Amino acid sequence: MENSINIPCLDLKKQYLTIKDEVLKITEEVFSQTAFSGGPFVEKFENSFATFCDTKYALGCNNGTTALHLAMLALDIKPGDEVIIPANTFIATAWGVSYVGATPVFVDCDPNTWEIDVKAAEKAITPKTKAIIGVHLYGQPFDIAPLKAICDKHKIFLVEDAAQAQGAKYNGKPVGGFGELATFSFYPGKNLGAFGEAGGLTTNNEAYLKHMQRLRNHGMTVRYYHEEIGYNYRMDGLQGGILEFKLGKLEGWNNRRREIAKMYQNGIKNEKIKLQTQPENTESIYHLFVVTTEDRDGFMSYLNSKNIFPGLHYPVPCHLQDAYKYLGYKKGDFPHTEYLSEHCLSLPMFPELTDEEVNIVIDAVNLY
Ligand SMILES: *Cc1c(COP(=O)(O)O)cnc(C)c1O
Repeated sequence: MENSINIPCLDLKKQYLTIKDEVLKITEEVFSQTAFSGGPFVEKFENSFATFCDTKYALGCNNGTTALHLAMLALDIKPGDEVIIPANTFIATAWGVSYVGATPVFVDCDPNTWEIDVKAAEKAITPKTKAIIGVHLYGQPFDIAPLKAICDKHKIFLVEDAAQAQGAKYNGKPVGGFGELATFSFYPGKNLGAFGEAGGLTTNNEAYLKHMQRLRNHGMTVRYYHEEIGYNYRMDGLQGGILEFKLGKLEGWNNRRREIAKMYQNGIKNEKIKLQTQPENTESIYHLFVVTTEDRDGFMSYLNSKNIFPGLHYPVPCHLQDAYKYLGYKKGDFPHTEYLSEHCLSLPMFPELTDEEVNIVIDAVNLY
């Protein structure tokens, strides 16, 4: 049967239509309380999100990139310091490091899990290294325990970039509480997406929390008394209200993503297509369902001809971006990351995909 419906990588409209009445009601509540910036809706969400992540504290902010900046500031990372980062990530993982004037040091990913290569990370440690930012890429936790052990041994900080992994689990425990700090993005396309820009952090350390609350709000605790150079990184009240509501639905949405992933994993039987290896002690939330194949561009055109429109995350690895040319990396430095950038493709993945649509994708992949 020819497929005449378009199947995109992500469709936010479908989810909106399922929660439209509630969202509009929340909008009306936030607006009638004029709780536009920060305030009670954000605080409520922070409490719920800390509970969800099984951490003592959560802090809302205006996006996931500023969350990474706040994390670097809270850890007092400065010019001259180095922070180790996987080259296989979205570039924002590195931005926070650059914003504080420190140097991102990239390392390769594991050739099977595609997550940060723990051994490579340890090798990259120098006397200047202050922290490692592990990324739970595509929604799958990186190998946290060995990386944490390395950080403890070398007395450096572990930070989790959990932007893509709200609700993912490692050894049965939610991500967000394994390092000093964890950062989250609630960008609309993430698995817990706001209706605009938003981000957050979790920690078990009250001193970090208090410091970041101040930094987020112009460096002040008492209004108009600025104790240090601060930022305006507050979360909108509207985003807090909507995120609080959507958090209540997240487990269901994550489970549907897992169901779809299971269908792909069981259904795709094509030697030309390789899937991500999933260690048994991890539970991904499948922000993305990434596969690799030798002729990626050919596979992409083939799927497009079947009205299936996959995504591509990410075509250029961090170490080869023009922005980081000054660091002197070259092609060939991180072969596994570079292989992915040239051969990966993200199959349609969002909770509102129907079984019928998933089966259409599986059939098309198997006929390739
Ligand atoms: C999306 C993302 C970010 C940045 O979040 P924004 O909210 O878009 O600023 C950081 N790290 C990773 C891994 C991401 O996927």
